[in-house]
Amino acid sequence: MAIRPVAQIGHPVLRTPTREVTVDELSSEEVQALIDDMIETMRNADGAGIAANQVFESLRIAAIEVADNRRYPYKPPIPLTVIVNPTWRALDEETVTINEGCLSVPLRGDLQRHVTIEVSFLDREGIAHAEIHRGLTAGTFQHEIDHLDGNLIVDRIDPRTLATWEQFEIHQRDDFVRRIAEFVRDS
Ligand code: ZN
Repeated sequence: MAIRPVAQIGHPVLRTPTREVTVDELSSEEVQALIDDMIETMRNADGAGIAANQVFESLRIAAIEVADNRRYPYKPPIPLTVIVNPTWRALDEETVTINEGCLSVPLRGDLQRHVTIEVSFLDREGIAHAEIHRGLTAGTFQHEIDHLDGNLIVDRIDPRTLATWEQFEIHQRDDFVRRIAEFVRDS
């Protein structure tokens, strides 16, 4: 396993829609090693998820995990989940305002995410799954699948809420954490 460099906003690989992986490719040593490296890179950077194009591989694969995350201490835990060729759909019209950051973007800000979604994907063994997710966890899945489509949080963020991580900590964090804790408790 190896930590790979993470592409930063402005690099075209983040703006190029990734291509689907065949089951044969998925079982190859190269792709399995890529998945191991994505997991290690995500954990090393305290990310809640990482998409393959963030480590310069334009394949429709992402990894998600939240466990005592220092960058996002308010997020409910998500077990390690590798999603290959994922698609999602909203199960209703409800949306929530979430303040998101990204390993590829130096700023964070408020954006809208669907609250209840169904995600369909293959796992790293090629087995198909369909899962329903809600709240911040649903937002994390939407964030990673956005990456795979060549989209970034800045496309969705209300520009007047953009902040560095340092300024967010000082001026916005307490209000956001209070609001989102209520949302997590009620949802
Ligand atoms: Zn991201």
